This record gives sequence, structure tokens and C-alpha cells, in this order.
Amino acid sequence: MSRTAVIVGAGIGGLAAALALRRAGWNVRIIERAVSPRELGYGLGLAPNAVAALRDLDVADVVLSRSFVPRRGELRRQDGTVLKRAELPPRALGGPLVMALRPALHGALLDAVGADAIALSTVATGFTTSSGGVTVHVRSSVGDDVVEGDLLVGADGVGSAIRQRLHPSQPPPRPCGIVAVRGVVHGAVPHLGDCDAVYYLGRGVESVLIRASDTGIYWFLSIARDVIPEGLQEPKAIVAHLAPQFDETWRGVTAATTDLRFDALVDRDPLPFWGTGAVTLLGDAAHPLLPQTGQGAAQALVDAVALGKALAGNAPIEPALRAYERERLEKTAALVAQGRRTARVMGTTNWLLCYLREWAVRLMPIQQFVRLSVRVNRRAGTDIRH
Ligand SMILES: Cc1cc2nc3c(=O)[nH]c(=O)nc-3n(C[C@H](O)[C@H](O)[C@H](O)COP(=O)(O)OP(=O)(O)OC[C@H]3O[C@@H](n4cnc5c(N)ncnc54)[C@H](O)[C@@H]3O)c2cc1C
Repeated sequence: MSRTAVIVGAGIGGLAAALALRRAGWNVRIIERAVSPRELGYGLGLAPNAVAALRDLDVADVVLSRSFVPRRGELRRQDGTVLKRAELPPRALGGPLVMALRPALHGALLDAVGADAIALSTVATGFTTSSGGVTVHVRSSVGDDVVEGDLLVGADGVGSAIRQRLHPSQPPPRPCGIVAVRGVVHGAVPHLGDCDAVYYLGRGVESVLIRASDTGIYWFLSIARDVIPEGLQEPKAIVAHLAPQFDETWRGVTAATTDLRFDALVDRDPLPFWGTGAVTLLGDAAHPLLPQTGQGAAQALVDAVALGKALAGNAPIEPALRAYERERLEKTAALVAQGRRTARVMGTTNWLLCYLREWAVRLMPIQQFVRLSVRVNRRAGTDIRH
């Protein structure tokens, strides 16, 4: 009889884990607190390692058919001065860098998993373990209940309740000093001219406008907290506050956007270990990454594939989970550290560092920049190529 995995969280990590475990012969039950599992329409960069994981999960073709491969970009100062114009070599990373709107990725995973496997509007509040397996305590509008399985995967994001139960002495997520506004707009592609992407670097400000579908532009604005007035959180007000510093392209794209949101980015230290017994963690619950890595969703997908492989066949559960954690913990911990370093360089408000950063970026040929980012990731234990 096939075994049952209970997964908390129907984000990219939880859905990918469900697919990977099914392929490994498991039944899956997913618990999701949201009323609807559809993500809001923001964008994600999928490096070749993420695309390879999607291939393993058999959903790459669907995702790729709904996404966009940016080829030509400009690096600008906020005032529009072009610092560099570059063609992204299509196979520089062994495969293209793909941009997808979240519904393209999340929707493809969701369709593959099937709605029947997901209990919506259901919050996991805790769990107990016994020799017979795991009992997950849940709460929904019909009251308190339990869901039983042979193992539990906490894929419940950066504020994970499962992580909290496993590691009660660990501090909660803390603000990392950077806030972000993200948006998606359809029909504004002409603002980009002949570019697929425009990247802005300023003092304490980093922003990207990038095509993520045939009609859609995903944009991302990352700001050092002290660059905007204290308490300013409304995304449109932040855009209006910064707009005078930006060029016409940026102002045009952001002004046309009605779908946008604000996030104060948070950070957590890597855990000394992830799970115990028949319980483990995956994705942001295990290793939240700052968006400057561009690897949050990718690493959740890679975790899922590794988990499925470890639990394939009739592998005994606990040794398989510890083997999965051994494979993933160190690599993702190194990426957490890498994300912090990148965020510091990109979000600096120090004039001298900003000046040096601009010169470094201007002088470095794009191929070398790609090689550097591959090397930086490899040093952090992750090969983003394929
Ligand atoms: C501004 C920004 C930009 C980013 N850009 C990129 C990028 O370009 N490329 C990239 O790869 N990554 C990017 N990321 C990171 C990426 O979004 C995340 O790393 C990824 O989505 C993590 O997926 P996850 O499934 O682990 O967690 P989540 O997506 O957070 O999913 C967790 C799920 O669990 C549910 N849940 C939580 N608690 C409970 C509970 N107690 N009971 C039941 N359900 C629960 C939540 O409702 C949610 O659906 C970015 C992140 C940010 C903030």
C-alpha cells in the first residue's frame, strides 16, 4: 500500500514536493490556509537549475510555453543614463534565463497536482509524531481536526508554523533593512523600446523592469529602508515618492501598473538541522532567501526533486529525510549568506561604494558578468547552469 505524505503549504515548494513525491509512489495531502491557492501575478526569474527541476517534475514545457526569455537589456542610472547595453548570450548559463509570471509557474504546478489533493482554508496549527506516523493538527471554518500521514513536509513559507514547532528556540523572521515593491503590468511593453529588460542601480535603490510574458512586464523595486520616509508602506505612494528620480521608461511602466504590492523583506539565520523523525522542511520554510539571489523558487523546486529522489521506492522514511536534508542544508545555507552579501552591495547608500560598483559594472563584459555570477553561485554550492 502506498504511503501518505502530508504537506503544509500549497506554494511553489509545496506543490512541487507533491509532484515529486507522487512520482516516487506516494499519496499526497496538502493543507493550505489560503482560500484560493492561486498566487498573485508577480514574476520570477527561473535560472537553468530551476528549469531542470521543472523538467524532472514534468511541467517544464507548460511553464516555458507561458514564459519569456529576455535577450536584450540595459543597465541605467535612475535618471536614464545608459551605463551598459547588452545582449544576454542565450546559452551563457547552459540554458536561457527564463522569466515567468507567478501564475504561469504556480498554475502549471497546481494543474499537475490537481485541486482534489488540496484542503483549502485550512491552517496547520501543530503536529505530533508517533511510531505510526505523523498527526497534523488543523483548523478550518468547520472546527479543529487532524490529518494523518506517514510523514510531514513543512512547506509553509518564511513564517513556517512547522519550523516553529521543530525549532521553538529559533527567533522569528527579522526585517533585513530592505523593502520591496513588486508589480505586473500588461500592455506597457512599448515603454521598454527595443529592450526586454532595464535594470536601474542607484543609491540604496535597485529596480528591474523585465518582460515576463508576451504582454506582461514584471517589475521589482528594492529600496534601503532609510531611503524612503519612515512609515511609508503604501506601494503607490512609494512609487510616487521615487518617480522624480527615475527616467521616463520607469515612470511610464510603473504609472501604468495597477497590480502592485509592498513587502518589508525579512531574513532568518540558517538552521543547524531541519527536521526530526518523520518531519522535514522545504523551500522558504527551511531556508528563506533574499530576492537578490533570484533563487528562492528555484531552490524550493530543487529541494522538492531531491526529496522525491530520497523517498523513492520503499526507502525507510527517517534515513531518507536525513539524507535529503544533508544534501540540501549546506548548499542553501551558503546561498542565504550569498544573498545577504549581494543585498548589501546592491542596496548600499554609501556614495563611494555606489561609484565603485557602477564602474565595476560598466567595465565588465557581459560574458564575464555571467561567468562571475555562475562562480559566485558555485562557491555557494549551487550550480545555476545546466
Ligand atoms: C520580492 C521578491 C522577489 C522574488 N523574486 C524571485 C525570483 O526572481 N526568483 C526566485 O526563484 N524566487 C524569487 N523570490 C522568492 C520566491 O518567491 C520564494 O522563495 C518561493 O515562492 C518560496 O516558495 P515556498 O513554497 O517555499 O513558500 P511560499 O510561496 O511562501 O508558500 C507557502 C504557502 O504555505 C501557506 N501556509 C503558510 N502557513 C500555513 C499554515 N500554518 N497552514 C497552512 N498553510 C500555510 C501559505 O499560504 C503559502 O501558500 C522572490 C521573493 C520576493 C519576496
